[in-house]
Amino acid sequence: MAKMNENYLNLKESYLFSEVAARVKAYKDKNPDKKVIPMGIGDVTLPLVTSVVEAMKVAASEMGQLTTFRGYGPEQGYEFLRLAISEYYSRLKIRLDTSEIFISDGAKSDVGNITDLFSNDNVIMIPDPVYPVYVDSNLMLGRHIEYLDANEGNNFLPLPDNRHADIIYLCSPNNPTGAVYSKKQLALWVDYALEHDSIILFDAAYESFIIDNELPRSIFEIPGAEKCAIEFCSLSKTAGFTGTRCGYTIVPKALTRKSSNGADISINKLWNRRQTTKFNGVSYIIQRGAAAVFSEEGQIQVKKPLDYYRGNARIMGETLTKCGVYYSGGTNSPYLWLRCPNNMASWDFFDFLLENANVVGTPGAGFGKNGEGFFRLTAFSTRENTIEAMDRFMKLFG
Ligand code: PLP
Repeated sequence: MAKMNENYLNLKESYLFSEVAARVKAYKDKNPDKKVIPMGIGDVTLPLVTSVVEAMKVAASEMGQLTTFRGYGPEQGYEFLRLAISEYYSRLKIRLDTSEIFISDGAKSDVGNITDLFSNDNVIMIPDPVYPVYVDSNLMLGRHIEYLDANEGNNFLPLPDNRHADIIYLCSPNNPTGAVYSKKQLALWVDYALEHDSIILFDAAYESFIIDNELPRSIFEIPGAEKCAIEFCSLSKTAGFTGTRCGYTIVPKALTRKSSNGADISINKLWNRRQTTKFNGVSYIIQRGAAAVFSEEGQIQVKKPLDYYRGNARIMGETLTKCGVYYSGGTNSPYLWLRCPNNMASWDFFDFLLENANVVGTPGAGFGKNGEGFFRLTAFSTRENTIEAMDRFMKLFG
């Protein structure tokens, strides 16, 4: 009999977004005349910029010509895109060899797949609340997770404590709290990882929302991180690639660990081996579109949608401030993480906001136990809907 990985049975149902959808549907069925505004989704609303679309059109025509057709590409990604990304990192004074950059179909795949490289007896440390993929991809393998409390007391930026961890997940700017680590704080994590021989898995999916030049956009801005960190990044929110799918992972050549017989293991080589075995690369057309994001013109063009979302976040932040509601994020992040007014529980506030303002957000409790009593709003809506939702919010709590 085929024996199943029963760790899957220990996973909680992906209850959060299905429950949100069910409650919204029930409300709309009862109140068909009401305009319900979604402010909870983590998906973008603005289209791809023209440089990206034009590059993909050219690439699609190349695929239709005998002389320029391409079949399987390199599993690690085309050199033209890896080069464009290494140049993008050089603006932060980070020198990357193109062989340290692996192109993926999005950060979610690589964040989930990286678990392949690590043995099951590692102690995994994950902040709470957090992007649920870190927790579930480890629970699927039956791994032990130590949670790091992220709360108002530490501005949702937990720092190392006296516990040992082998693998540490950090997400900055954070989903869902919008909090961003400073260089000093990240340096504490890098020091910890170097001391404990641990590896930091750093999720930088929202780096392009950072406007404060003092804040790190990459963990490799911290000296020593190349010896203890892997970085995941995505074009989903940077350039509207949620449906187009492209991301990248940086695995430094300097990152090595000892095998049980004392030999050095190159993590870069291991990841390369994993990818060449289980992954066949990202479509050429998509990679051409992704490379256009990093061109001079592409960088100018993607600034526009980013500024638009930042403008939404500013409007939302101003409203919350006027209403005297505590929140984190919103400045260097598309997420605003607010304390539910009147000490309401997350789901109670969800129902209250849906029924009284017809606005939908995401209950914080769905991101971990420390999310109870909090609520996530996103800046990815249209400007009109953002303004209308905030007007309604103001009427209730202003
Ligand atoms: N990492 C974080 C923190 C996210 O919030 C998301 C998407 O919501 C992802 C990764 C996934 O990004 P991608 O669309 O590149 O798979």
